[in-house]
Amino acid sequence: SLSEKLQNVFKNLRGKGRLTEADVAAALKEVKMALLEADVNFKVVKNFIKSVQERAIGQDVMSSLTPGQMVIKIVNEEMVKLMGSETTEIAFKPGNEITVIMMCGLQGAGKTTTTAKLAGKFKTKGKKPLLVACDIYRPAAIEQLQINGNKQGVPVFTMGDKHKPVNIAKAAIEHAAKNNMNVVILDTAGRLHIDEDMMNELIEIKENVSVYQTILVVDAMTGQDAVNVSEMFNDKIGIDGVILTKLDGDTRGGAALSIRAVTGKPILYTGVGEKLSDLEQFYPDRMASRILGMGDILTLIDKAQAEFDETKARELEKKIKKAEFDFNDFLDQMHQIKKMGGFADILKMMPGMGGQLKDVDIDESALSGIEAIIYSMTIEERTNPDILNPSRKKRIAKGAGVDISEVNRIVKQFEQSKKMMKQFSGMLGSKGGKRKFK
Ligand code: GDP
Ligand code: MG
Repeated sequence: SLSEKLQNVFKNLRGKGRLTEADVAAALKEVKMALLEADVNFKVVKNFIKSVQERAIGQDVMSSLTPGQMVIKIVNEEMVKLMGSETTEIAFKPGNEITVIMMCGLQGAGKTTTTAKLAGKFKTKGKKPLLVACDIYRPAAIEQLQINGNKQGVPVFTMGDKHKPVNIAKAAIEHAAKNNMNVVILDTAGRLHIDEDMMNELIEIKENVSVYQTILVVDAMTGQDAVNVSEMFNDKIGIDGVILTKLDGDTRGGAALSIRAVTGKPILYTGVGEKLSDLEQFYPDRMASRILGMGDILTLIDKAQAEFDETKARELEKKIKKAEFDFNDFLDQMHQIKKMGGFADILKMMPGMGGQLKDVDIDESALSGIEAIIYSMTIEERTNPDILNPSRKKRIAKGAGVDISEVNRIVKQFEQSKKMMKQFSGMLGSKGGKRKFK
């Protein structure tokens, strides 16, 4: 994975204060490969790398992160920015005015399926959608829309295959007005490739019907082609947004980054399966980590950064190294973990950690019981657990209102935890890693 590769790049660079040109160049070489592998357009990659480079060189490495993580952080932030930072909603006309949405795209991109998926979303927003069969070329297209509309409980308007799409659209809007419907979604015909006929048909609709939103549907699996298609549609007919389908496939979704960069138009939704419920709002930050192939490590970096007291972390790091970890640290650590949303959550986010740690039993509710026991210890006992003999344990048990066996269990658990912390620091072998598990 990219994070492993970066970890290698920075193997010898631990504890650096500032990102040098050489650090950044080495890391960005890996980032570049990851982006190209994810099918991001070459030109987009080139510009992107350049801007990240400019921003990264000379930056202070936050003391809670390794240089590699620091570069990823910058790369991620820039990618999110490039994809528009926030989720963009489909725009509707105000009040009960009819919003006409024209779906367009190549054959097989997922227009008809997505039309029905969208209708479901609109319905839950309280809209009254009408689906319109404007694909008169493929014999099964009309029936496909009818079946999908039925499944969604949304009416479908059709005039068979003997009328021009523009006239079907006009009639459908009249029908919607008469029947108190307020969103009209036109399911148009695609072609295998971009051609004049298709474009002219779409232009004709746009010139004669007040289309409020033109939404392009593109297949994420087609990678670079998806970008070319988006550029052409945007140039020829003008689009307001893109829906990227088939992201449930094994594509890393680099098209999302390129499309936004090349057309300047937002991705609105993503198709993540064939079922009509498989349509998700587009989240630039999630897409960025998917393109980078980073799983949730970015979330982890954010959390580590936001929640950790760096000075304390540094002290603890030293203690762990020297195996001086004591009950005060244990208590501290429990508080930090609670702040970060629980131990199990943190472990889940570590790439590759899930498997190794699946047998470690984590009972979060037990944490407060442990706290009570530690509070019943003297400062000396907390600092130097080795002195905990049976009579001390008995006293602690009384103070915490638990059985002595419970105290024994906690002391044992503490010893295990101490061991585990040491393993973690060995396993992660990175500055940030140790801090995460202080
Ligand atoms: P159109 O020609 O653009 O109208 O495309 P269709 O809506 O007919 O879809 C073509 C094929 O792609 C169908 O088999 C759909 O089930 C499938 N499809 C559409 N969207 C998705 C998606 O997000 N994921 C997957 N796996 N399949 C999809
Ligand atoms: Mg279709």
